[in-house]
Amino acid sequence: MALRTIRKKGDEILYKKSKEVVNFDKRLSELLDDMYETMKQADGVGLAAPQVGILKRCVVIDIGDGKIELVNPVIIKSEGEQVGQEGCLSVPDVWGDVKRPKKVTVSAFDRNGKKIEQTGEDLLAVALCHEIDHLNGELFDDKIIKQD
Ligand code: ZN
Repeated sequence: MALRTIRKKGDEILYKKSKEVVNFDKRLSELLDDMYETMKQADGVGLAAPQVGILKRCVVIDIGDGKIELVNPVIIKSEGEQVGQEGCLSVPDVWGDVKRPKKVTVSAFDRNGKKIEQTGEDLLAVALCHEIDHLNGELFDDKIIKQD
């Protein structure tokens, strides 16, 4: 495993749409391992591949309940609404309130290409939405309704 450099706001790769993963190979596993290590080292709760300069649709999340890895994630259900403070490892020193669904269900694949579903409420719903936004080239600070 290796730490990767976290790209910061202004880096154009953060605004590009990531591509679907088609090969569930050793390189994908290495990427996911590196992403998790990089996220932990930076004290984050989520990281998307474009944040380390790779335009592949994969994210890692750990809000304190263990590691979640999602490849080609798609939100298939979303319920309710919440407004909470967000930050981002790619947008240092910016915090602000963003409106998100209260609960989402995501369909995705694991690192071996097995189909999985992940449901998240509250902070996990925020993390799922925030990381999937990264795969579409969207940064949270454009969605801030109230800056702190
Ligand atoms: Zn982020």
